Amino acid sequence: MVGSSDVAVVGAGIVGLATAFSLVQRGASVTVYERGLPGNAQSGGDTRIFRHGHDDPRLLRWVKRSRRGWSEWERRFGAELISPDGVVALGPTVTRQLPMLCEDDGIDARAIEPAEVIDHLPLVADTPDGPAMLDVTGGAIRTRAAIEALVASLHVAIVTDEVYALHTRPSGGAEVRAGGRVSRHDAVVVCAGAGTAGLAQGAGLELPIVREAALRLSFPVRGAPPLRLACLQDSSGQFGEPSAYATPLPGNAAYAVGLGGTLQLLPGGEAVDPGGLTAVRERTCAYVERALPGLVPVPVGHRHCWVTRLPWADDGFAVWEADRLLFVAGHNLYKHAPALGEALADRALGGDLDPDLVPTARLGDPVSFGRDDRLGSGDRMVPS
Ligand SMILES: Cc1cc2nc3c(=O)[nH]c(=O)nc-3n(C[C@H](O)[C@H](O)[C@H](O)COP(=O)(O)OP(=O)(O)OC[C@H]3O[C@@H](n4cnc5c(N)ncnc54)[C@H](O)[C@@H]3O)c2cc1C
Repeated sequence: MVGSSDVAVVGAGIVGLATAFSLVQRGASVTVYERGLPGNAQSGGDTRIFRHGHDDPRLLRWVKRSRRGWSEWERRFGAELISPDGVVALGPTVTRQLPMLCEDDGIDARAIEPAEVIDHLPLVADTPDGPAMLDVTGGAIRTRAAIEALVASLHVAIVTDEVYALHTRPSGGAEVRAGGRVSRHDAVVVCAGAGTAGLAQGAGLELPIVREAALRLSFPVRGAPPLRLACLQDSSGQFGEPSAYATPLPGNAAYAVGLGGTLQLLPGGEAVDPGGLTAVRERTCAYVERALPGLVPVPVGHRHCWVTRLPWADDGFAVWEADRLLFVAGHNLYKHAPALGEALADRALGGDLDPDLVPTARLGDPVSFGRDDRLGSGDRMVPS
C-alpha cells in the first residue's frame, strides 16, 4: 500500500502527539506511526512534573513557552493538564536556580521557610533543613488526560505499525517504510524515544543518545488525600539519597517517587538488570520512610521506563537533520512538549530550526551557554 500526507510523525508519545497537533493547527496533513499504544512508552504513567527551574538559562525561554502552551491546551481541551499546587524544591538546586527564576518577570517562584514547605507538602518529614523554594505555576502534569485529549483532537488516523526505514527521495521529500505500507511525505519528524537512534542510524546519522532505564514507584497517602499537594524536587541529601523527585497522581491519594540516577542495562543494552531494579525499589522505600512519613512505604504502582539522555546534560535536547528527516532526542521532555512540538512543526513545514535545537548548541548545558556556577554533581538526574 502506498500512502501520502504532508508530514509523517514517527512515535505517538507526548512529543510526537504535540508535533502532530501543531502540524494540524498549521493546516498540514499528517500521518502518525505508532507501533504500540499512544503515550505508553517513556510518556507512560499518570503523572510528570512541570518545573521552571533549570541550570541552563536558555531553557527558561522553553519552559515559559511550554507553560503557556499547556494553559492553551487546557482551554482548548477543557481539562486540567497541570495541577495548581506548585513544585517545592529543596537543597542546592534552590541556591543555583532561584536567582535566575526570580530575575525573570515571566516566572513566579520564591524562597519559602520550612513551615511553608509542610503547608505545600503535608507528607514531608518535619522541618526540612536548608534552602527551599516554591515554583508557583509548576505542578503535576496530568499525563493521561493530555495524551487522550491530543489523540482525540488530532482527527488524523494514527497508523498502528512499526517503522523500519526512512530515506529521502532523489525527487524530493521522504519515504517511510512501515510494516504494511510505504508512504511518501514532504518531511518526516521522528519522535520515537528509545527507537530514534536506530531509525537515525538507518538514515546515516549517529546520534549520541545514552540509553538507560529508570524506575519510579507510587505509594498510597495515609488517611484522606490532602486537598493540595505540590510536587517535590529534593537535592538536599538530608533523607539519605543525593536526589529524589515526587509527584502526585490525580486525586492526591497516591504519590509517585523516584530517585536520581538511572539503572544499568545488561550487556546488549536491551534489558535492565533485575537485581538493580530490586535495589532501587528498596532504596526508594527507605527514602519514603525517612522523607515522606505521610505515605505508606509499600509501593502500589511501578513505572519502568527507558531514558534517552544526551551526554552533555540531563535536561538536554536537540534535533538532528538529514534533508527532510528530523530526529529529536533528549530527556525530561514531557514538560517541553507544547513548545518543542511547535518548533518541530515549523521546521517540518519549511521554517528555520530554532538555533537552540541545533546539536552544537548543546541545549541544557549551562557550560555551553557560558556559565558554570553549578555547585556539584550530587543532584544529577532529578528527572522532571
Ligand atoms: C520515570 C520517569 C520520570 C520522568 N519524569 C519526568 C518529569 O517529571 N517531567 C518531564 O518533563 N519528563 C519526565 N520524564 C521524561 C519524559 O517522560 C520523556 O522525556 C518523554 O515522555 C519522552 O516522550 P517522547 O514522545 O519523546 O518518547 P516516547 O513517549 O517514548 O514515545 C516514543 C514513541 O515512539 C514509538 N516508536 C518507537 N520506535 C518506533 C518505530 N520504529 N515505529 C513506530 N513507532 C515507534 C514508541 O512506541 C513510543 O510510543 C520522565 C521519564 C521517566 C522514565
